[in-house]
Amino acid sequence: METVLLVRYAEIHLKGLNRPYFERSLMGAISRALSPMPARVVREQGRIFVFDVPAEQAEAAADKLSRVFGVHSISIALAVEKDFDAIAEAAAALMAAAAGERACTFKVFARRADKRFPMRSQEICVELGGRLLDRFPALSVDVRNPELHVGVEVRQERAFVYVGEIMGPGGMPVGCNGKAMLLISGGIDSPVAGHMIAKRGVAIDAIHFYSYPYTSERARDKVVDLARIVSRYAGPITLYLIPFTEIQLTIYEKCPSTETTVLMRRLMMKIAERVANSCGAQALITGEAIGQVASQTIESLTVTNDAVTMPVFRPLIGFDKEEIVERAKAIGTFDTSILPYEDCCTVFVPQHPVTKPKVEKLRASEALVDFTEMIETAIKNAEIVKIHPHEN
Ligand code: ATP
Ligand code: MG
Repeated sequence: METVLLVRYAEIHLKGLNRPYFERSLMGAISRALSPMPARVVREQGRIFVFDVPAEQAEAAADKLSRVFGVHSISIALAVEKDFDAIAEAAAALMAAAAGERACTFKVFARRADKRFPMRSQEICVELGGRLLDRFPALSVDVRNPELHVGVEVRQERAFVYVGEIMGPGGMPVGCNGKAMLLISGGIDSPVAGHMIAKRGVAIDAIHFYSYPYTSERARDKVVDLARIVSRYAGPITLYLIPFTEIQLTIYEKCPSTETTVLMRRLMMKIAERVANSCGAQALITGEAIGQVASQTIESLTVTNDAVTMPVFRPLIGFDKEEIVERAKAIGTFDTSILPYEDCCTVFVPQHPVTKPKVEKLRASEALVDFTEMIETAIKNAEIVKIHPHEN
């Protein structure tokens, strides 16, 4: 009996979108997630099958696939001969592993793609249910809300049998909806924002601004670690680390002190937009939420937005901090985010920041300095880190 992973996917019925393109993107994402494990990914009638994964690695493979966007759910199946006894035997072996002698409820689902198979789907369900009840006396059937799904799919070559399913994240395969540039700080919010946009099928590159020596090497490493965790979901990420000290010191020195934070945010956006354009990213992503800090009032967000023409995605805009923390914990970035290293925003924070900045006024303050050359230099001196998911 061969072990096979059966992958179900959702969101394929979207209007105007090309189904084979989605399926190919998803197959690519699945292959990348499993690499370097041996895996042959095949699409067949609304399902994706993964063959050649060694049986003892099937659970690890399913765990990886449970983080691939576009995956609805995964079952570890056994491929058997198209014979009812063989199907029942496989189901019993799987049930022994899943439930053993434990009391639990189940329901059998059957799909007969090969109509030459002599039993109809309904017959398979009834017969197989009966056999499992005989063999495992503690089991009972619950057709409404079963704890375990027992699945049988009879296909052209073989039949596939599974017990139970592991939920995937949903969403869409990364890369099928373009690419965006995530402004990543060392904080809690931005990695969560990147994860949310990647879930919609958007590939991610990331940009981080640091102010050495005011921020440390460890603060830099923390951001690389966060990008690495995001890449487990979002796939490969190119991370641009931009030296920001000169710009920051200049703002501090030459511009009104109440406006330094907002000006800094404008400069970050400008540089991010430039880098995004050069690497094919079509939008910027930030972890901002209304009212969280002085630089996130509607007025401040307006002024920040005014620095760029590229769309800015703020998926956390309506979230409470608690909701963001919950998500950060769920995706595994929280523990890294709360490590206590300083961020360049916190180093230079003004004592009385403006909370209602005006676009015209901030444009004028920014024009007090010609930043053109400093921006060029910062981009030229960027450190570029290529992050691959299977380094994780
Ligand atoms: P976070 O938890 O993501 O740090 P925050 O609540 O601390 O967010 P700010 O520090 O005002 O808020 O930053 C708002 C957003 O600006 C961040 O979510 C991030 O997208 C971006 N940002 C802030 N600092 C940096 C930085 N040093 N490099 C890149 N992007 C940054
Ligand atoms: Mg921050």
